[in-house]
Amino acid sequence: MNIIANDKLKCHSKQLTLSTDLTSRDIQPVKSQRSPSPHTYLDNRGTKSQRGTKCTRSQRARERLQTKEHLVGLAVGLGEVELADKLERCHSRLAVLTCGRHIARIIPNFTCEFRLCPDCGRRRSRKLQNKYLPMMRGFMLHHKVTPVHLVLTQTHRKENRKQSAKRIKDSLTRLQRRGFWKEYFKGGTWSLEFTKDKNGLHHTHLHIIGFRRKFFDIELLRGEWLAATGDSHVLNLKPIQDIATGLQEVVKYVSKPLDIRRFGADDLKEFLGLKNMRMFGTFGEFRDFCKDFEPSDNDGDEVSELESLSRDLVEGCACPHPQCGEPLFDLRMSKNELPQFYEQMESSPLGKARQVQH
Ligand SMILES: [Zn+2]
Ligand SMILES: [Zn+2]
Repeated sequence: MNIIANDKLKCHSKQLTLSTDLTSRDIQPVKSQRSPSPHTYLDNRGTKSQRGTKCTRSQRARERLQTKEHLVGLAVGLGEVELADKLERCHSRLAVLTCGRHIARIIPNFTCEFRLCPDCGRRRSRKLQNKYLPMMRGFMLHHKVTPVHLVLTQTHRKENRKQSAKRIKDSLTRLQRRGFWKEYFKGGTWSLEFTKDKNGLHHTHLHIIGFRRKFFDIELLRGEWLAATGDSHVLNLKPIQDIATGLQEVVKYVSKPLDIRRFGADDLKEFLGLKNMRMFGTFGEFRDFCKDFEPSDNDGDEVSELESLSRDLVEGCACPHPQCGEPLFDLRMSKNELPQFYEQMESSPLGKARQVQH
């Protein structure tokens, strides 16, 4: 067992806070399963892992490793040596703060920040949740609006990813200029999801959290979307019962923009061309509300209560999991050992992992 040197904690404190692996899920008891998503209709992608509801944490950790290996292979094939190297270094050594039954924090040695990196994607997704959740709650309280999850789709055409994304974003802009939209929606967030159909054509969706002022007939909205796109009326709308879950659903498309393990070299090449494309944004009065709420727009500064509680944890502190309170200790491990560590926690009757010595 190693102890993280204090100076290391200090010099990385900002980055570490943002890159910790702590989510409320991470400090759930190991045996607890996430409840099935209320938005299963959105989970239309190929792999089971991406539905994310049945997999254990060890399986998910293993899949992240495989996804990364696949990406590294593609990057090497394209001669993107620097990218391959960054991906390989990212999260390759981990400092895990654990009580043996729960993981309070995972501190990686390095984060590559590549948009398709599954480790950095999780981190980005948490940052977005931490940033927007308090603002969404504040906005709903202030304006007495109710959130809905709206999925907008477009027809498939022979076009590249960039063209497909631009086409649907332009349609959204046209929709937002229409009187109907302004009358019923006070603002919200959008995010892009890319998939491909069986013919290899891009199937780009928009996931929107819309703050609805009042009820409307969904057929009217379909007509409005048809007017905005010119050829598509296909959409799906569901009320969001719990805004935290709703936001989590939506940002997962930012963290996993596509099924990477089905990616070929051409897909990666095309994706690298999208470097500066925005995948997530705010609109309407919610956008202005966010500016006032956090004028610095300093991504990641807003942290949830849980994360701000956990960012200060060090070895010897009590495990923050409810009804635990066991002392936390640091374990150093390589990326390949993390799935095994999760597995030990999952397979032990007490959910207690052995204290691996390094
Ligand atoms: Zn614990
Ligand atoms: Zn990364």
